[in-house]
Amino acid sequence: MSRKTLPAEGMAQDTLFETLEAFKAEDLDWHSGKIFAYVYDAGREAEKVGKDAFRMFLTENALDPTAFPSLLRFENDLVAMALSHLNAPEGGSGTFTSGGTESIMLAVKAAREHARQHRPEITAPEMILPVTAHAAFHKSAKYLGIKVVTTPVDPVSYEAIPGAIKEALTDQTILVVASTPSYAHGVIDPVAPIAAIAQEAGVLCHVDACVGGFLLPYFRRHGADIADFDFSVPGVTSMSMDFHKYAFTPKGSSVVLYRDASLRQQQYFACAGWTGYTVINPAVQSSKSGGPLAGAWAVLHHFGDAGYAEVAGRVRDASLRLREGIEALEDLQLMGDPRFCMLAFESKTINVFALADELKERGWYVQAQHRFGEHPQNIHLSIHPANVDWVEPFLKDLGEAVAAVRTQPAPQLPEGMMQAIQAMAGTRVAPEQLMGMLAMAGISGSALPSRMADINGLLNELPPDFKEQLLTVFLGHLFSPSEA
Ligand SMILES: *Cc1c(COP(=O)(O)O)cnc(C)c1O
Repeated sequence: MSRKTLPAEGMAQDTLFETLEAFKAEDLDWHSGKIFAYVYDAGREAEKVGKDAFRMFLTENALDPTAFPSLLRFENDLVAMALSHLNAPEGGSGTFTSGGTESIMLAVKAAREHARQHRPEITAPEMILPVTAHAAFHKSAKYLGIKVVTTPVDPVSYEAIPGAIKEALTDQTILVVASTPSYAHGVIDPVAPIAAIAQEAGVLCHVDACVGGFLLPYFRRHGADIADFDFSVPGVTSMSMDFHKYAFTPKGSSVVLYRDASLRQQQYFACAGWTGYTVINPAVQSSKSGGPLAGAWAVLHHFGDAGYAEVAGRVRDASLRLREGIEALEDLQLMGDPRFCMLAFESKTINVFALADELKERGWYVQAQHRFGEHPQNIHLSIHPANVDWVEPFLKDLGEAVAAVRTQPAPQLPEGMMQAIQAMAGTRVAPEQLMGMLAMAGISGSALPSRMADINGLLNELPPDFKEQLLTVFLGHLFSPSEA
């Protein structure tokens, strides 16, 4: 076996950084403005501010807020600004976290501890999730031992259905969730009726504003028709909001917020039961870099309210133009009524996975989303400031790509694949068999083919548990220790 080892001698710095640059050159070129996912790019200036501040505090450790009062100040400032932004009443509080997933996990943990203390009759806690709620809630449920009860969304509007949530309540329910918006379709759930149902039942209600919470208030100022979605709605007990999405800060920055600081107390972890220092961790991490805190603080102060309002106006305008352009193409159908700067469209006539490939060949990166139950496969766009000047070129290429796909034969699953899938349904499949299926779809080793339509076509047909197994094996394959 020839596994990579430490280099025998240290590398010269110029070689080292040349090597890093070479690695980076293989990555998605997100500065292009032609990428509709992963990076929320507000331009070079905001990027520099965030990175410079991040570097300044990168080595400082937020493990002990008394040793680094600068980091404590950043956190208290960020939480205060977030609470004000989302209309939290006096007595609200929150915690800075590494991202939406951690914010959500902490809110779920707080809900579980709250139930243990105040509702001891609950022995098998349940959480109600509309099917559009982010996977981070499912992850939290797995980590924390909570049962997920999913509810349908409206097949036309893609909004969560309050009546379905009400019906799903049991004497074991600890938490109800609404998303503003949900990621996949960019649709905002009706928070007020959902929170009212939760309140009436004596259940906590979390609003996942990870992606939308920061810019939605500005969208409203610019005239978007968006109902109250934050702590101004009675019954909303906690919220999550990411800075590292639409506040354009460096990654690793989000907040979880509570209407009442006593609920936040349930999220804390304390341990004096070992030989070392007493550990009191508000969040999941223990040792943690001050970089994300400083980066977020700096970028929020760089833009200020007026700066964000201006950016939000441009992004909203671009989103509306994109929406109009998409609606003008008769092969594409917008899903729901997206009022934020994210949208998804399906097609009843052409293969959207082939469309994504055609767009990629024209330099665009869009996200293909697979069918889920009765909700069809589609293309997702997250629109951010760097995309604003690219709306018209994108729409032109989109029209051409649609025309190109229309003339192509529909991609077919390889011979026998569907039967093989059906035969394996409901069983645990051996990793070798799964890799065999990936090979049939054109994946060998860790290399993805440049055209993804066949693979997406395969994944689109798989039941969720099967898709989870297949992609887990694939990812395990990607993360293989390097060869020498
Ligand atoms: C991105 C996102 C999350 C998860 O956040 P991460 O920062 O990726 O961990 C949760 N909910 C919604 C709606 C999101 O868009």
